[in-house]
Order: sequence, then structure tokens, then C-alpha cells
Amino acid sequence: MEHFDLIIIGTGAGGGTLARKLAPTGKKILILERGNYIPREKENWDTEEVFLKGRYKAKENWTDKNGKSFHPGIHYCVGGNTKVYGAALLRMREQDFKELKHHGGISPAWDISYQDLAPYYLEAEKLYSVHGLRGSDPTEPFDENPYSLPPIEHEPRIQELFNNVKQLGLKPFPLPIGFNNSPKNGDSQVVLDRFDGFPDPTESKADAHVVGIKEALKFENVTLLTNAYVNRLITDASGKSVKKVEVELNGEFINYSANTVIVSAGAVNSAALLLRSANEKHPNGLANGSDVVGRHYMAHNNSAMIALSTKPNPTKFGKTFAINDYYFGADDFDFPLGHIQMLGKSDAEMFREDAPSFAPGLTLEYMAKHALDFWMTSEDLPLAENRVTLDKNGNIKLSYTENNLEGHKRLQKKLRWILEHVGCETHVLPNNVYLGKKIPIAGTAHQCGTIRFGNNPKTSALNTNCRAHEVENLYVVDGSFFPSSSAVNPALTIMANALRVGDHLIKEVL
Ligand SMILES: Cc1cc2nc3c(=O)[nH]c(=O)nc-3n(C[C@H](O)[C@H](O)[C@H](O)COP(=O)(O)OP(=O)(O)OC[C@H]3O[C@@H](n4cnc5c(N)ncnc54)[C@H](O)[C@@H]3O)c2cc1C
Repeated sequence: MEHFDLIIIGTGAGGGTLARKLAPTGKKILILERGNYIPREKENWDTEEVFLKGRYKAKENWTDKNGKSFHPGIHYCVGGNTKVYGAALLRMREQDFKELKHHGGISPAWDISYQDLAPYYLEAEKLYSVHGLRGSDPTEPFDENPYSLPPIEHEPRIQELFNNVKQLGLKPFPLPIGFNNSPKNGDSQVVLDRFDGFPDPTESKADAHVVGIKEALKFENVTLLTNAYVNRLITDASGKSVKKVEVELNGEFINYSANTVIVSAGAVNSAALLLRSANEKHPNGLANGSDVVGRHYMAHNNSAMIALSTKPNPTKFGKTFAINDYYFGADDFDFPLGHIQMLGKSDAEMFREDAPSFAPGLTLEYMAKHALDFWMTSEDLPLAENRVTLDKNGNIKLSYTENNLEGHKRLQKKLRWILEHVGCETHVLPNNVYLGKKIPIAGTAHQCGTIRFGNNPKTSALNTNCRAHEVENLYVVDGSFFPSSSAVNPALTIMANALRVGDHLIKEVL
């Protein structure tokens, strides 16, 4: 059995970032990834292939709480879900780390503070080439350090919309986006098109493959195995240490061992892996004496909204501003509503499935040409009954009941109000048509919370260094550790935390 200093399972925001951080230590590192590289091919930017046929989505189904099968929007590949993410990289708000009262209940405090993560947010923003404007977001925590790269310029139609929103007395701000705009080999023009939801063959999008794994593999001490599905973690007889990592590689089972094992398979799959690894000493699943593993699944209350304006919108990259004025509340509501951001520009193909029901008589081409695209995120709460379990065949069951919806409904209303009032209705949005689509359970993009961290081993599975309370050489660094979900996109927090855990490993463990 080959032995390593460290095994990292998964190459997404958590695993990819940690691999990059630890590669220069010279320690012998094995990275195990169940997927393969997404090929660079013309289909990368083909809406029908990517959106309608799900070319890069995992080919597996899960079941919901009623046993109904669904196809999750999840991606098994080098870089994980960051390969298709929109790279909107926002910090959680300082108050998100504290207890927050929501209409639907309490969002619990984290056992680390914003200040503990602040230096790592900065490190992650630099690593992922985040373009932004510090101080422009009214709810962003203070940091004297500016973003090292300037915000992306709005294209003319988006600039106009931005100005109109500002005239309403709101404070729209440039959306922080991670991309590398230094031309490669002196010849490539950075193309910010087909970005949100698509893999990027130009590799200018700062994803965990390009920024994390590709750079880590430049070090001889780092090995990556793809198509390497981690089936189980096997402990020693005491149950206190992981002794073997059982991997299914090309149909064969192989064991590897390491001094330290880092799980970063994404919130659903990491929980599933620990549950699959139950043994005599851990009858409820590995490191699960607290019975929290798999529980408190969160994925946000998310909706997409498309507004049709009479004015054409020839924008290529629309994802350049966001609105946080309602993040913590509104004049008519004392509880948090959430976050609004622009989406990548839609096209006719994307509307094909929904169009006839909401816009009869309009051609898809007309709609696409005139659409303004928005994404809304509100916090969902960590309910114990929202959980990942395994059925008798070992397949994933994701039980989720929507919650804390009032703030989200009000956020949708606020956005409708904004859209009705931007600029002058006669030529901006006189005949508004909206596609207001709440993202269903298959929308697992923002999954988190299933192996939460904390000081109390009775209510958390990991300590605040993300080490399992009950297993001394086991860490988890993907989105599983979140005690609450906040209302911003999760990836920057996952990356920053991976860097924080990386520092801990370098100083205290390796
Ligand atoms: C379309 C889309 C758009 C998004 N846009 C944004 C955005 O703009 N901003 C933002 O902050 N977030 C965004 N997200 C969410 C973001 O991508 C995730 O929060 C982030 O990737 C989660 O990181 P992770 O490390 O927890 O897991 P992942 O990135 O999912 O990585 C997990 C990895 O583990 C591997 N794996 C799973 N099981 C096993 C196993 N048993 N053995 C070996 N390997 C395994 C997977 O193949 C995968 O590579 C988006 C997501 C999607 C799908």
C-alpha cells in the first residue's frame, strides 16, 4: 500500500485550493478525484449541450424525501463545480458569523469570527484574481486592503441599468469576479462570454482546476489520480485514526494510506462518504457520534429572474453588478431578505423549456435579445431534518424542505419593483415579462452544512480547525463545515477556509 503524507479527496473550491496551498511544502501529496478533466472542446460553449443536455453534469440520480428520483446539478471533474461556476466571489458579511434573527428562525453563530477569516479572504481574493471595488458594497465588511484588481467595466446596457438603479437611491456595486486577464502566450484576448454555467476553454475563469490543481501539479511531490472514486475510509481498531483510503480506480479497489486525510468531496458527497465509512467504532458513520453528519443541509433559497425590456440588450457579459441594499432587511421588513446579482447573459436556447408558458407570442430570439438576467439568493436555515442519507443500496437520498421563504418572496418583490422603476418605463421596461423561477431541489450548486464545525462535539462533527472531533487525522475542507449559509455565494468562503486550514496544517501537523 503506497503511503503519503497527505491525501486530499476532491478537487473543487476546497480541495483544489488546499492542494495549491500545500504543494510548496514538499510533502508527498495524493489528490483523488472521481471525475476526469473536462475536455476543451467546442461544446464547452454550446448552450444546448451544456444547459439542455447536461453534457458535463454527473450521470447519476438521487432521491428526494418522498423517494422521487431527480438529476442533481452537480459536476464530477477536475475543479469540481467551480469548472462551471460564475466566479462571483463575495465575502460573507461580518454579521453572518454571528447569530442572526430571520423571519423563519435563527441563523446560528459560527465559532470563528469574521476577523479569523479576514486575512484568508484577502489571500483567496488574490489567488483567484478577484476584480472588485472595496467599499462599494454597502454591507461588505471593512478591509483597508483594496482588491488587487479593478472591477470589470459594465457593458453599455448594464451601465445604463446600473445608473438607473442608483437613481432609485439604491447602492448597486461592481460584482467581485475571479478571472485572470493577463493574455497567455502574448496572444489571447480574454473572452468574458459563456462564463456563468459553462466551462471555460480559454482558462481565464479562475476556477479550482486552473488556479488550484494545475498549479499544485507543477510540484513533483504532488500526484493526481482522476477517475478515482473514494469508496470508504477505514480506521484502525481504536477508530481514532484513518488508516486506509479505499479507492475504486478503473473498476479495481486499491487502498492508499496517509498521515493526514482531507475530505473535500462537496457537502453532499463528503457526508455520504463518512456515512458509508461506518464501522464498529463509528456505527452512525465515521466521526458521527454527534449524529450531525449529513444533517443541516443548506443550498440557499435561489431564484433566477429574467426581465424583458423593450430596449435590446446586446451585452456579452452581464454579470457585473449586484445589490445588497436588502441583505439585512428593508423599510417594511425587519428580517434579512438577501442578495441580488446579475447573471451571465441568457440566450434563446436557455428559454426553450420555459418560454411558451410565460411569454406567449414572443419569439425566443426577441426574448433573448431583450432580456436582463438576475439571480437572487436568500439564506435558508440549518434544519436537522434536511439531510443526506444513504438508501439500502448506498445511493444518496437528499431530504430537503424549503424554509425561511418570506424574506426571499419579499426580495423577489423588491426586484420586481426595481425593474418597474428603473429609468423611464416607456423605453426601458414598459411591458415587463418576468421569468421568476425558484430553483428546485436539483439546484445543489450552493450545497453546504452537512458536516458542521464548532467547539462543541455534541453539536458539531469538526472542531474549528475542521478536524473531526473523533478522528485525529481526518479533516473536511469543502462547504460541509458551514454552520449557516449566509446569503452570498459560498465559494470564496470555502476557498478562504481551505487556506486557513492549510496554514494550521503547515504550522501544527505536517
Ligand atoms: C452553475 C454553477 C454556478 C455557480 N456559481 C457560483 C458563483 O458564481 N460563486 C460562488 O461562490 N459559487 C458558485 N457556485 C457554487 C460553487 O461552485 C461551489 O460552492 C463550490 O464549487 C463548492 O466547493 P466544494 O469544494 O465544496 O465542492 P466541489 O467544487 O463540488 O468539489 C467536490 C469535488 O469532489 C469530487 N468528489 C465527490 N465525491 C468524490 C469521491 N467519492 N471520491 C473522489 N472525489 C469525489 C467531485 O468530483 C468534485 O471535484 C456555482 C455552482 C454551479 C453548479
